[in-house]
Amino acid sequence: MASLSLRHIYKVYPGGVRAVSDFNLDIDDKEFIVFVGPSGCGKSTTLRMIAGLEDISAGELYIDDKLVNDVEPKDRDIAMVFQNYALYPHMTVYDNMAFGLRLRHVPAQVIDEKVQEAAKILGIEALLSRRPKALSGGQRQRVALGRAIVREPKVFLLDEPLSNLDAKLRVQMRTEITKIHHRLATTFIYVTHDQTEAMTMGTRIVVMKDGIVQQVDTPTTLYDNPANLFVACFLGSPQMNIFKAKLIEENGNVYAKIGETNKVLIPKSRAKRIIDKSILDKSSDGGAEVLFGIRPEDVHYEQSLVEAHPESVIEATVDVIENLGNETILYLNVDGKDDYTIARVNSRYSFAQGDVVKMYLATDHTHLFDTQTEMTLMGVPDYNLIPAQTVAIDGTLAVVFGDVCIKLPESVIRRITDNSAVNSKITIGISPKAFLNELPGEQEAENTDAEAAAEQRPERVEYVKIEGKVEFCDNYPRFKAVYAKIPGCENNVIVSVPLDENVSGGEDIVRYIDPREIQLFDADGKRIIADAFVTGNTTSGTVTENQNTVIYKLNGANGSHNKLSFVNIKKTDADSAPVKLCNVKTSEQETPIHIDNKGFSIARHESNADGDIQILPKMVLTGVIKRLDEYRRDAFVTVQIPGFDSDVTAVINDFSGYNTGDKIKLAVDPASVTIGSYEPIGEVIKKGQPQGEIDYKDFLSKREKERAAEKTVKAVKTSEQAATVDTPADEKKPAKKPAAKKPPVKKPIAKNK
Ligand code: ADP
Repeated sequence: MASLSLRHIYKVYPGGVRAVSDFNLDIDDKEFIVFVGPSGCGKSTTLRMIAGLEDISAGELYIDDKLVNDVEPKDRDIAMVFQNYALYPHMTVYDNMAFGLRLRHVPAQVIDEKVQEAAKILGIEALLSRRPKALSGGQRQRVALGRAIVREPKVFLLDEPLSNLDAKLRVQMRTEITKIHHRLATTFIYVTHDQTEAMTMGTRIVVMKDGIVQQVDTPTTLYDNPANLFVACFLGSPQMNIFKAKLIEENGNVYAKIGETNKVLIPKSRAKRIIDKSILDKSSDGGAEVLFGIRPEDVHYEQSLVEAHPESVIEATVDVIENLGNETILYLNVDGKDDYTIARVNSRYSFAQGDVVKMYLATDHTHLFDTQTEMTLMGVPDYNLIPAQTVAIDGTLAVVFGDVCIKLPESVIRRITDNSAVNSKITIGISPKAFLNELPGEQEAENTDAEAAAEQRPERVEYVKIEGKVEFCDNYPRFKAVYAKIPGCENNVIVSVPLDENVSGGEDIVRYIDPREIQLFDADGKRIIADAFVTGNTTSGTVTENQNTVIYKLNGANGSHNKLSFVNIKKTDADSAPVKLCNVKTSEQETPIHIDNKGFSIARHESNADGDIQILPKMVLTGVIKRLDEYRRDAFVTVQIPGFDSDVTAVINDFSGYNTGDKIKLAVDPASVTIGSYEPIGEVIKKGQPQGEIDYKDFLSKREKERAAEKTVKAVKTSEQAATVDTPADEKKPAKKPAAKKPPVKKPIAKNK
């Protein structure tokens, strides 16, 4: 019996194959965890790292709170069962099962008891004297399981144990393994590429793709609330139908427009779970395009349902009919969808190819995904993405949304990678889990930020109070998702609360946020603009020009040196004078030099890859990766480079196949080098600060007044409108068209956790 914790686990095989990236999971004692995903997604690698058969490239693995990264496999108290059984052919079943215990010098009588007990559990008592070659595949797999059971391990690891068995035996062994799990009451981790095995066996499933965990949850939650398109389509057979659709809001109802002819109503109970209201549009053309998903079992032929829901009916032409006896699978052609729409219907109905049928879509089971990020637009996101404004004030930076003003602590401001984020529109990301129901005690409120800690100077953090009204709640297996309305926010904010907390619609909710937990994204919510490990990228040096080359000599405070040489580029048209690629003043004197974090591109050091990056070798800095944090599109790479005062952070697109410790080349974009005049963000904030004696309280009360005034204006307008309703038609003022106000469609970006 054991609990496990995998924290930020990475695996990079020699040669640079990154098999697993940032795997995070806490496994409770006695859980049956299934790793599922297509072949090559890193399931076995993760299992083998848990077993100790593969080194962990980065991250920590705990078994029962003990760090075991460097513990030998035999000392981890784990038993592993493989796909190929790995039985000793020259030994009997009994000896195969007893072998491990004999190696450990367990007394013969104890061995006998354990082997007999395991044989009984597995129903192989009669086979104990046989050799493996006289056993069927299923029996061999039972022996392999028996060999694991006799060891009474804390954790069972099973790597595709059933994939060598035929279909019927697989189903039988599936239930047997589930029974063994109940009987042994031990932690099981099971790897499979078979979604049926995952759905039927796991208490929780980890869905993986390309070495990255996509979602972890109970089978039902994954099926009903997939976090992204991949999970939605991986689980379920036949897989979910995905339509390109536009969402239309009409008279308070939400419709999905599919193709030219089909329009289906999404019931209010489902539509209210849409995370981002900006995808709705009041015009009949609809808002942004979304991916509309509906499972084959939610496409109904029953005429009673079709008649009862005329607003959720589509027309389809039957093309292929598969009668499976217990059900019929229909392959339908539907306007607006290039591939088949699949329906599972009762086999008592008969169809002919070419039939035009009306089908009811059970739209209370609608799924919606973003066309670009493929993340869900319904249910619980990784982050609540909230449009906000930054304000330089009081010598620091605050983010403001609705009635909430969050003063960013210094440790967050230091992470900002983009100075233009001062006094501008941004998006803040707050994880549903980041909302605390009470203020932490004094001690916890003190910062653990590495730098402050090193200086033994705890950073004072002002927790932020957020007040809202609960709209409704959804219960998930491990938490309750509370959809709350926060004044001034268009979208509901989703707050995760413990299952036993009594919260219901209409109530007020008060929560607190640690401002260090806030992620900052650009105004579109697409790119992250702050990271915990951004460094200064500054040094000092001299700049000289020699014929057509600008030479930067970099002198790090630690005495290290480096050099960058940029060759001028001449404009091609004859009239214009040659221009320098880097618009700098040369200076023989030591001057501050700064390279913007986005001014780098990357190439593997060992590769002869100067061609890759199309840049002169002399414009390349070489260094060793000290840490990296990957986001959906960007990686923040911290690199140690001679000639710099401290580590350099590069924000790099399309970063893959690298890991900490790798020696890399960073090509520098000359346009991103600033000489002398670079302002750290603190300076930008000071400059951007409104003049005069303004402080927070003033600012907030001014905002409150503004909002109150806005409300009054709104109230007056509403009452004016109400008044016009009673006015005779000919006296009505022409209705004023509301100004087209549509915030950009926000794309949820999740840190790969
Ligand atoms: P899965 O179990 O999901 O099928 P694996 O964990 O076996 O996937 O493999 C994940 C990735 O790592 C694959 O791209 C695979 O080719 C690669 N890989 C696995 N083992 C090794 C190895 N020993 N050396 C190099 N690459 C490997």
